[in-house]
Amino acid sequence: MSETIEKPKKSKVQKVKKADYIPKKSSDIKQLQKHLELFGYLDPIDSAFGTADEQVPQPEGDALESLKSSFITPGEMDEATVGALKKYQEFHGLKSTGKLDTATLEELDCKRCGMPDLGEFSTHSNKWNKTSLTYGFDNYTSDNGLTPTKIHSAFAQAFAMWAAETPLSFRRVNASANPDIRIKFESGSHGDGSPFDGRGGVLAHAYYPPPNSGALAGDAHFDEAENWTINIPTGAGKIDLVTVAAHEFGHSLGLRHSNVNGSMMFPSYSGAKRYLHADDIAGIRNIYGGYSIASAPWIHGTSIQVEYPDRLERITRAGFYTYLYGKPNTTNWFHFAIPSPVIQDKKRLKVVCAILRFRTFSDKAVVNHVHIYDGYSKIASHNNINLSGNNWFKKFGVAHKPHLYWGLGISIGVSFKAGTANQRRMDFVSAGADLI
Ligand SMILES: [Zn+2]
Ligand SMILES: [Zn+2]
Repeated sequence: MSETIEKPKKSKVQKVKKADYIPKKSSDIKQLQKHLELFGYLDPIDSAFGTADEQVPQPEGDALESLKSSFITPGEMDEATVGALKKYQEFHGLKSTGKLDTATLEELDCKRCGMPDLGEFSTHSNKWNKTSLTYGFDNYTSDNGLTPTKIHSAFAQAFAMWAAETPLSFRRVNASANPDIRIKFESGSHGDGSPFDGRGGVLAHAYYPPPNSGALAGDAHFDEAENWTINIPTGAGKIDLVTVAAHEFGHSLGLRHSNVNGSMMFPSYSGAKRYLHADDIAGIRNIYGGYSIASAPWIHGTSIQVEYPDRLERITRAGFYTYLYGKPNTTNWFHFAIPSPVIQDKKRLKVVCAILRFRTFSDKAVVNHVHIYDGYSKIASHNNINLSGNNWFKKFGVAHKPHLYWGLGISIGVSFKAGTANQRRMDFVSAGADLI
């Protein structure tokens, strides 16, 4: 797929960019209403029949359709539409004015997830009733040189974020093995009643856990019309597949959209973000709980091994810390060997995650990649995570939580850009792992 320059598609609504614009053209209002309805803000049933708490019988079929069309007036900025727009603005962290100001117009035009922000889904069992989940691919995208192997690695990274916080593990199987979570890339209508919309707009959608949505439960669909990549920086107009996959799998596991800006489950896409926010962690642990740790080995930062010592300006050990000052415009690899038990109480242990305690003093010193090894086998790759600043307890999951055989190794890919010595400083305090 070729892409020239990033020029976000302007919706009709956005062409009129005046502060506090109240749309008057009926086609503009219809478009706004369609958007609000699609993402769960216009819910004529709730408004007409009271809230769900009141347990009023809900209309179905034809009765529902006629009620829908009679409640809001298509093309008119009626009370219901203004109210829905206010709710939209509130969820997206905008001023709740019910008017189409510039910020609202921009947010409406954002690339985003296709799942609604508000609205009900069956909540009597919004979680998987097992912890070992399988996933499989019906097809792949070949955008930007992506291959099945690269996509497998990207999606394992996305699943690993959720595995690191929960009892859940995720193992890839063939599509023929009836995976719990089926993954596919589709354009336009693709047989589930939620057609994709071409380039921009909706990027992907996913289905909540069973019993929601029957056979589709847990599945994640990606809009093939998007220009997918796993490279960072993505390049103009390209979408980070790892970020969107991690978001969609949040839905596959039972999470809804969050109104916390900066969380993985925020509905709009604003560039690559390959780690969970505290809000996502709280959300997923609220559904599945944590895991029970059998062993938690740690090693001090002073045991760090530097792959290219000549690319460091200085290395200082202080107590159990190691301070490393990279030469400008260099990359390097740092390694920790974790003295990990592999068998305990006659039981072979499994790896949940590696954990790092480190800090950098600016974004000129960055941890780019974290690779986790069992002996010489790489069991997880977290690529292009681009972490700087204080990271005092950063987990890097292993999606399938494999048994541990030869001992854990963590390899950390770093980069140092031009800047003062202190800006190129990186401290490692310790590295460890959670074993179950
Ligand atoms: Zn979503
Ligand atoms: Zn779909």
